Amino acid sequence: MTTLRPLDQSSKLKNVLYEIRGQALIEAARLESEGHTILKLNTGNPAAFGFEAPYQIVRDMIAAMPNAHGYTESRGVLSARRAIVNRYEETPGFPKVDPDMVFLGNGVSELITMVMQALLDEGDEVLIPAPDYPLWTAMTSLSGGTPVHYLCDELAGWQPDLDDIRAKITPRTKAIVIINPNNPTGAVYTRETLEGLAAIAREHSLLVLSDEIYDRILFDDAEHIPMASVAPDLLCLTFNGLSKTYRVAGYRSGWVVITGPTHHAHGFLEGINLLASTRLCPNVPAQFAVQAALSGVQTIDSLIAPRGRLHEQRDAAWKGLEAIPGVSCVKPAGALYAFPRLDPNVHEIRDDAKLVYDLLVSEHLLLVQGTGFNWPNPDHLRIVTLPEARVITEAIERMGNFLASYKQR
Ligand code: PLP
Repeated sequence: MTTLRPLDQSSKLKNVLYEIRGQALIEAARLESEGHTILKLNTGNPAAFGFEAPYQIVRDMIAAMPNAHGYTESRGVLSARRAIVNRYEETPGFPKVDPDMVFLGNGVSELITMVMQALLDEGDEVLIPAPDYPLWTAMTSLSGGTPVHYLCDELAGWQPDLDDIRAKITPRTKAIVIINPNNPTGAVYTRETLEGLAAIAREHSLLVLSDEIYDRILFDDAEHIPMASVAPDLLCLTFNGLSKTYRVAGYRSGWVVITGPTHHAHGFLEGINLLASTRLCPNVPAQFAVQAALSGVQTIDSLIAPRGRLHEQRDAAWKGLEAIPGVSCVKPAGALYAFPRLDPNVHEIRDDAKLVYDLLVSEHLLLVQGTGFNWPNPDHLRIVTLPEARVITEAIERMGNFLASYKQR
């Protein structure tokens, strides 16, 4: 027999974690292969819950298809970049955007990876919220950087703790990541918070990386204030895309918009250009979805309005969670998630990944543990609020019944 050397993954992946598609998902697949139905509340994938692709987007993509088979400019087609510029021109306070400072990508995910690769040297530190959307932490590590987590304060509606951020700045701190509206907490940041973040970034000359992919998924009187509008004097990268507001996550279409002064950052921006060129171009059919999505009727508006589907689902999730003894939840003001707390005096959870696993096996319900979002304690879970309200209500009731008798040894 031929002798083959063992093949392990690279050591660069040592700190790369992505529990949203982790061990529990493997068990879920096994249960499904045995014929069980699993309610998967682990990923924010609107299509999986009956949200259709808006017709105007599909129509324009189909029309573009016969001519969408070649590479485009590496930043993306100009018509899509112009549509993005227009979107921000209509956003109050947003600084002027040059179409050449817009990069399209295969989702925000690819752009996060590109930007971190262009930015970080071994040991450079990046401030990232805890809890976070874990790709930010993973890509910081993969790029040789050191993620430093700053706390968001649950008692303050999950707003970032500015004192904690200040305490964690070192001479190696290069950038700060802001996720607003937030995944996983659903928090929408106040102007005061954003101005506090901008003041810190200004004082320490930090690059601002603002993930605003949920900027139009807002409930009640929540208002989204773009970070770039609060910090027009700083280099700010704003990330957004079609996956959530436009509910076409599978098209893999996102963008990053660069605003503010650039005289100090030519090398970094050249790095982004270089990496954009090396991947040749983003998925071309999906680039033709951008203009269609951003113009005309914004179908998200009726979904988030008081009797709209997303609004009702958010309400159902929040009410259901609050009704479970020993569980509390900050009411999500935006995005597609709830991040409930399990009071450690009532629910003694030492291993939240095990809780998620046991809940899956017992109730066929798949959530993600709070530590999967780099939250330091095993006392939170994340629930996706995408299923119909009655499905969410029933699932959370089952979770409550499960928790009532659940004990971890
Ligand atoms: N950023 C945040 C905060 C997210 O929640 C997600 C997906 O859930 C992404 C980025 C990835 O988005 P995309 O589908 O554009 O890669």
